[in-house]
Amino acid sequence: MKCGACGSDQAADDVRDFRYVYGDKDVVIPALKGRYCPDCEEILMDGEQADRYGDAVSKLRKEVNSAVVDPEFVASVRVKLGLSQEQAAELFGQPIRAFYRYESAVRPVPVPLVQLLTVLGNHPELVTEIPTVKYPDVPTEDWDSCCTFPRPRP
Ligand SMILES: [Zn+2]
Repeated sequence: MKCGACGSDQAADDVRDFRYVYGDKDVVIPALKGRYCPDCEEILMDGEQADRYGDAVSKLRKEVNSAVVDPEFVASVRVKLGLSQEQAAELFGQPIRAFYRYESAVRPVPVPLVQLLTVLGNHPELVTEIPTVKYPDVPTEDWDSCCTFPRPRP
């Protein structure tokens, strides 16, 4: 059967207990029905199966990312500093949607930022001493690939 992603003719419909690894944890999604491609490792699923997969993956990622730092701590320090998510992203040289992602545990918070937020949480008056640094205008994908954890693999 043809793979809709890479065009390989080795894809096959199957039902598998699918193991998803993220960081140092994993989750098994039981009896995941889909078209599995051995060449590109893509799984084509219908809406119901994709929802099961998405829910399990999202839950695991939030669990792993929240272990780095409590997302509510990030939000509380940001609010204490009087910054919107966009303003915080600009001040700390992060992608524009970074604080939304950190505060919803979609992405792990970089350790240096955790350390800086910890200091600023105790001494919010120091926020005025943060210098403005213009970072090179690099594509968002480059930022995303430099996170603490290896890319998720099936
Ligand atoms: Zn494929």
